[in-house]
Amino acid sequence: MKLATFTHAGETRIGVVSNDEIVDLAAAMPDLPREMRAFLAAGRAALDAARAAVQRSEARIALASVRLEAPVRPRKFLAIGLNYADHIAESRRERPEFPTFFTKQHTCVNGPFDPIHRPRVSEMLDYEGELGFVIGRRCRHVPKERAAEVIAGYLVVNDVSVRDWQFKTPTMTLGKSFDTHGPIGPWIVTPDEVGDPHALELRTWVNDELRQHSNTRHLIFNCFDQVATLSTVCTLEPGDVISTGTPAGVGFARTPARFLVAGDVVRIEIERIGRIENQVIEEPEDTPRI
Ligand code: ZN
Repeated sequence: MKLATFTHAGETRIGVVSNDEIVDLAAAMPDLPREMRAFLAAGRAALDAARAAVQRSEARIALASVRLEAPVRPRKFLAIGLNYADHIAESRRERPEFPTFFTKQHTCVNGPFDPIHRPRVSEMLDYEGELGFVIGRRCRHVPKERAAEVIAGYLVVNDVSVRDWQFKTPTMTLGKSFDTHGPIGPWIVTPDEVGDPHALELRTWVNDELRQHSNTRHLIFNCFDQVATLSTVCTLEPGDVISTGTPAGVGFARTPARFLVAGDVVRIEIERIGRIENQVIEEPEDTPRI
């Protein structure tokens, strides 16, 4: 299933994408939660009910007439740096013995087709096309062999990065957390439709120029390794998003470096999942301030 969060007629709710339509779960199954984190927390019973709704429901809306939102608003948004050998080489770093996790603040989450702000404070705005996964069960101490059981599905992530702010400090948190710098989506694809998550083609374009092309088989620490490591430390909760790292081809590693400017369109596509597409705009003058 492709689980989406969408807005239609002024109301935001969740649904299941079926070809060029979306089955409105709020109409088809009024007893189900209308928000993705609560839906995922409801577990197997909610997924089975949604699956049944797709088979028989009349509550269908043309996909073209809805606005797709970030499929989930996570409470944790973690990502991993240096997880493809070719990206490590272009970054002139050593292959890590241990995964380099960092946090993107969840306020940076953005819709799959919404604008990315070029911050007023930087001209070093960059993209990172990545496979992300979403936790489906509250869990701790998950062995790698059982990690698949806690993954609700997969999505596309643009780990947008402000390079000068990223490298100002030993942690990457600030440079990875600007508002709008976490486009995710376009929906969550359940594992049964994805098949092997470690055999997916990933491509990133900027204005129709192909900048990144790799396959998730090249991940150093795969999705299941990441669940095992993270859940050793903290409880993972339904809706948490983990982004698995980017391959070679980011703007700062090019010669000369090529950063994003207003008007650029970044499109990231992952096989069996879909694509997200976000245009860069200048940070609006009316960004809320204190
Ligand atoms: Zn990244």
